[in-house]
Amino acid sequence: MGDLNALERQFQERLDAAAARRRAYQEGVDAMDDKAVASWVDAKLLGFTDAYLRVQVSEQYQQTNMVVDPVCGMRINRADAEAAAEYEGRRYYFCVEQCRQKFLSDPDRYATRRNR
Ligand SMILES: [Zn+2]
Repeated sequence: MGDLNALERQFQERLDAAAARRRAYQEGVDAMDDKAVASWVDAKLLGFTDAYLRVQVSEQYQQTNMVVDPVCGMRINRADAEAAAEYEGRRYYFCVEQCRQKFLSDPDRYATRRNR
């Protein structure tokens, strides 16, 4: 996945930049408390790692939850689906209740589109 690789590269670049900044602080700013600088950088890094992980998890979440409304063909997130119906052991998701009604009035027409 290209996006994740780019994110990982970005993440590594930030880590490198943070490490360089930390070294610069420690070498150049003797007056400053090393520990304070270190913990400031660590806090920043933790915040970034946290955001990074959240993005990654939500991307996976988006991907595993994307389904196609068999009636109108719209791609929707399962969690955002307005309506759902079971048919022949499968669960179908719909963008609006009207799509579900249409599906239920002639399920074979829509259900078979993807199966056969
Ligand atoms: Zn629909």
